[in-house]
Amino acid sequence: MQGIMSGKRGLIMGVANSNSIAWGIAKTLHDHGAELAFTYQGDALGKRVKPLAESVGASLILPCDVSDVATVKSVFDTLKDEWGTLDFVVHAIGFSDKSELKGRYVDATTRENFIQTMVISAYSFTEVAQFAAPLMTNGGSLLTLTYGGSTRVMPNYNVMGVAKAALEASVRYLANDLGPDGIRVNAISAGPMRTLAGAGIGDARAMFAHQQRNAPLQRTVTQEEVGGSGLYLLSDLSGGVTGEIHFVDSGYNITSMPRPEQLKS
Ligand code: NAD
Repeated sequence: MQGIMSGKRGLIMGVANSNSIAWGIAKTLHDHGAELAFTYQGDALGKRVKPLAESVGASLILPCDVSDVATVKSVFDTLKDEWGTLDFVVHAIGFSDKSELKGRYVDATTRENFIQTMVISAYSFTEVAQFAAPLMTNGGSLLTLTYGGSTRVMPNYNVMGVAKAALEASVRYLANDLGPDGIRVNAISAGPMRTLAGAGIGDARAMFAHQQRNAPLQRTVTQEEVGGSGLYLLSDLSGGVTGEIHFVDSGYNITSMPRPEQLKS
């Protein structure tokens, strides 16, 4: 298919099922002509990811657990052998022990899970950039997914908010380092969405309802809307944009207080 992504090849990391944010971005990229490769985390998720990836004509569907650097290296070795070059990567990966995504941050957070959350949800993007950049000989675009709990306290988001703050800082440092090579690095800060990872956060339903009542657009965002912003940031349409945290959250991030009618109830 012809489109603004025609002739571009990229890797999608972080599809678990058809509700995944990464899947929304992948579908949009495919609709605009991109050639895609996918990773999946473990055989159980692989059974869900493979049919989705095949439905958009994926040429490579590879296992990858970012807590094991050997599997990350193996993915990029394969991409080098099969494609030679790479135009973009979507990193939509996050994990924390859900028993720590409820209650007070100060009480819930253990050393072990703090480290695990940081490695999987923040460091892995830097490691992916280290492997991807040498393949981006014609320039490229790296995109990760973050959430507003990085800069503002969201109940129950806890250690994941701390990891997202590190991830967003990584976006800026990577953008500065890789800019001279024509490689852009950005993040989408999505509003709450009903996904496997989203369901792991305590009181996810309440966050969802709060967003619907208080965001300027008075609703949550769709997979297609995040897909459209992903297309923009991964294509030449955003050629002058790097180091950006781009909110796709119905405008929730600009608000400070609940709407007056909410305060009364
Ligand atoms: P999801 O559960 O569909 O996707 C999370 C992905 O992370 C899964 O594919 C999972 O396999 C992968 N993952 C976890 N640990 C991994 C590991 N060790 N190695 C490789 N992959 C691993 O949920 P989602 O909501 O689509 O999450 C994608 C990204 O979007 C995450 O970074 C999440 O924090 C972020 N995000 C989600 C929301 C939301 O409300 N759902 C909002 C803003 C940002």
